[in-house]
Amino acid sequence: MLARAVAHISASALSDNLSALSARAGVPLLLPVKADAYGHGLGLVARVAAQHPGVWGMAVASPQEAAQLAALNTGKPILLLTPPMSAEVGPLADLGVRLPVASLAEAEALPAHARAHLKVDTGMNRLGARPAEAVGIGQRLAERGLLEGAYTHFASADEPDLSFAHTQLERFQGVLGQLPPVLAHASNGGGILSLGRIPGMGLARPGLASYGFAPPHLRSVLPLTPVMTLRARITHIHTAYPGESVSYGGLWYAQQETVVATVGMGYADGYPRNATLRASVLVAGERRPTLGRICMDQMMVDVSGLEVAVGDWVQLWGPHDLTVSDVAEWGGTIEYEVLTGLGARVERAGVE
Ligand SMILES: *Cc1c(COP(=O)(O)O)cnc(C)c1O
Repeated sequence: MLARAVAHISASALSDNLSALSARAGVPLLLPVKADAYGHGLGLVARVAAQHPGVWGMAVASPQEAAQLAALNTGKPILLLTPPMSAEVGPLADLGVRLPVASLAEAEALPAHARAHLKVDTGMNRLGARPAEAVGIGQRLAERGLLEGAYTHFASADEPDLSFAHTQLERFQGVLGQLPPVLAHASNGGGILSLGRIPGMGLARPGLASYGFAPPHLRSVLPLTPVMTLRARITHIHTAYPGESVSYGGLWYAQQETVVATVGMGYADGYPRNATLRASVLVAGERRPTLGRICMDQMMVDVSGLEVAVGDWVQLWGPHDLTVSDVAEWGGTIEYEVLTGLGARVERAGVE
């Protein structure tokens, strides 16, 4: 059967973004591929990362993701970013997955063939050990020969005010100073763009930036290209006459004869329903408004005056004119949520 929507994933855009981010960070990358590689498709992204000289390894958010990625045999290290349940520790270590450690009990419970990254909570207050406790945990891991890395996570490195990021960094560097040398990592994409190279760091973890997006005030720092282009098919074309409404709830009425294309993409596919009455799409390269409510599986678009036929593709977002950033703004959300919310019905296809 033919997919109604296809996300094209550009290997060259991803590869160029990774090169630019690694160069700016001055270190290799631990590429976050959680949430199906931010919706881009784990397999497609892992294939590019596996070949990329600037990528040290990949980071995931759940043990299932770790196991899926391990099964792809990329040859690159995998770090789990969240605490496993104790029953998962052994199987993950057997797969070679690097584990986050944030307590002495966890450090003691690791099997002898495990590799650990000490997780330090410097202010995000989500995961990790407080700096004062982290030192002893790291020293114990080092004694056991299991300490490969240490990391922390910035709470606001993607915001204009970097004072808290600097505070977090000082706390982290204070811990690192009391440990033997390890692969240290702190920066997410915001951190790389705003802080650049950080002394003492061995890796960086840009997620959203790798997929081509930066916060508005950091967009001029590096030329990043959105990796995903999303297209959906026109499934039906008809005319709406003056006074008729289109879609649920009568939010939009035709004031003149309007040619309406129904497109096979809706909120069940991840297109934000809250973008109703604000969203446009590209039809034959031209921005055209959606009409009325975004539905679960479909949306309607004004294609008056355009040469289009059933089966043609419209573009929902892409690297240039109309981006995920626009759609996120229309939907009252952020690029992260739009990308990771892309539904399972949307086919992912790799392109050069
Ligand atoms: C998701 C995540 C990242 C990547 O963050 P971006 O803002 O997408 O760059 C980095 N580190 C950790 C611990 C994360 O959970």
